[in-house]
Order: sequence, then structure tokens, then C-alpha cells
Amino acid sequence: MKKHNFSAGPSILPQEVLLKASEAVVDYNNSGLSLIEISHRSKDFVGIMDNARSLAIELLGLEGKGYTALFLQGGASTQFLMVALNLLEKKAGYINTGAWSGKAIKEAKKIGNIVEVATSADANFNYIPKGIEIPSDLDYLHYTSNNTIFGTQFKDIPQTNAPLVCDMSSDIFSRTLDFSKFSLIYAGAQKNMGPAGTTLVVIKDEILGEVSREIPSILDYQLHIKADSMYNTPPVFPVYTSMLTLEWLKGLGGIARIEAENEKKSTVMYSEIDLNPLFTGFAAKEDRSPMNATFNLTDDKLKDTFETMLKEAGISGVNGHRSVGGYRASMYNALPLDSVKALVEVMSELESKA
Ligand SMILES: *Cc1c(COP(=O)(O)O)cnc(C)c1O
Repeated sequence: MKKHNFSAGPSILPQEVLLKASEAVVDYNNSGLSLIEISHRSKDFVGIMDNARSLAIELLGLEGKGYTALFLQGGASTQFLMVALNLLEKKAGYINTGAWSGKAIKEAKKIGNIVEVATSADANFNYIPKGIEIPSDLDYLHYTSNNTIFGTQFKDIPQTNAPLVCDMSSDIFSRTLDFSKFSLIYAGAQKNMGPAGTTLVVIKDEILGEVSREIPSILDYQLHIKADSMYNTPPVFPVYTSMLTLEWLKGLGGIARIEAENEKKSTVMYSEIDLNPLFTGFAAKEDRSPMNATFNLTDDKLKDTFETMLKEAGISGVNGHRSVGGYRASMYNALPLDSVKALVEVMSELESKA
């Protein structure tokens, strides 16, 4: 039986995407060859890469606006380094809203001068800093739009004249934003787009080429752009599966349509957290993430009962991250509303039992 999959990442993908991807592993498009045993320079794979790249640009509303999409390797974690290597000359600003921002800061510090312009570390990152004063002399401002571990999300894009760089690993393609405000967006595929193994990077071309350092080739965005995202052998299966997910999203009606679904899911989830006296939400209400709902039991003695009930209901992947504890329900694009309803049902059943 298919489980209700609330995993934080790698995470749920649309069933039809999984089926098509698995068919391609055996026989790609009746070619008599597997997708993963053909050359990445073949017409078939070049077509897949081109399609994935243009779908990403199209869904983000960035067509004709001077952006390029790349599918790279090394995870979002490699972007922590690449962003600084390619864009940091004098000074960059970082907003620290959790573990992933912290890691981005740690790597960038090895490259150059970083200022932490705001942080919510004082409350274990359960909120998003507001009214941030951003210096006017930054090479770029980096922030994490959705904090996967803590369950917080920036509702608005920070106001700044500096080029904006954003780690959107866990909420890309989940909501409409004016994506043309960003100079660089990156996202590991495994939260909302595909299997682990590729990272989408969307770059405004004009911001590149301004730093004086020599950049190692594999970490140089300009070389990847010149090579049409095939500087070296790309991760063919993750790119193909990501392409299928982007096609699925386009077929549904794009980001605005999935955003409406995501709102329904998060309303159902957070209403239960607020109304059920056995649970408390972790994140500040106004900063709650529609993607990752973090919550705790008010009475730890109910832990075993609750977890047994979850298991019996086929609910998987709701354990919280070790740095927060409690529970985390990740409600990425591919998670059906019915799965949220199943989880909420168990929560209210627990209340009637207790
Ligand atoms: C998961 C995650 C990462 C790390 O991604 P990797 O692909 O494992 O390097 C970075 N940032 C955010 C916001 C994440 O959710």
C-alpha cells in the first residue's frame, strides 16, 4: 500500500513521474536503450536537458529576462561555495534563519568578507527577522526563503538594492513570487522537483564575470553556461526526472495552481495544530511555512501512542529534525491534500482518546 509520505527530503514525487521515470530506466521512449546507458551528448538527452532548463525558466516567469537555468551536481551545499566564489569580491550580506543559512555563511566566510545582517538564532530560529537594515555596499544579499528544518518561510522578498541570492531548495515552484527580483536562485532537486543528485541554479547572466579571483572550472557558472549545462557528464536520471516533474507542474497549470493547493493543505494542517490542545506549533504563526509544518506534543507521555497510530494509518516521515525535535510534516507540491487529512485525522483521534 502506498504510504502518506511526509518526508522532508528526499521527498514525495508525483506518482505519474515515478512511473515514467522508472520506464525510462528500462527502455527510454521505445528506443531499445535505457536512459541511463546512453550518451549525454545524444540527441535524446540533449533534448531532455534543454527542455528541463527551459521549463524551469518558463515556470518561474523568467523567459526573455536574461536568465539561464543550469542543472548542476554537488547539492545545494556546493552552491554555498559556488555563490561566494563567483559573486563575492568585497563584502556580502547573509540573513541567518537556520541550519542551512548557517552552512552557507560558513562556506562563504572561507572565500571572503561576510556580514550577518540578521539572525533568529536567539530563539532557535523559530521566526523570520523583520525590519532588517541591509548595508548598501554589498556584492549580494543571501537568504534562505524556506527553512526546511525549523518550518519558517519569508513571506516577502527582502528589500535591498544589492543583488539577491536565494536558497529556495525547499519551496521552489511552490508559490508565486516576482522571481525577476533575484539575481541567483538555487535549489537542490530532492525537496520539490526530483531525486537527489542535481541542483537547479537560475542565474541572471549580467551578474557574472565581476570577480577578480580565478575560479576552478567545475565551480565556474560561466563555464557551465557556455557548455549548456553539460560542462561534464550531467546527472542524467535526476535531470530527466526533474524535467518530468516540471512538465507535470506545467500540465496542472503552473505555480499559481499548485500554490492554491499548497494553501489548502497548510490551512488544514495548521488549523489542527492550533485547535488541538495536544499539539503546539514550533514556528511563529506569521512565519509558518506551507512546506514544512513543525509541531510538538504538549504531553510527551502520548508519544508512543501517537507514533503507533501514525504507523497504523500509513503515515511516514513526520519525525522532526534532531535540532528541533517533535514532528515535521513536509507538504511539498506532490503531496495530496488527502494525505494531510489522514494525518490530521490521527491527531484528532489522539485527542478523543486522551
Ligand atoms: C536540504 C537543503 C539544503 C541541502 O541540500 P543538499 O542538496 O543536501 O546539499 C540546503 N538548503 C536548504 C534550504 C535545504 O532544505
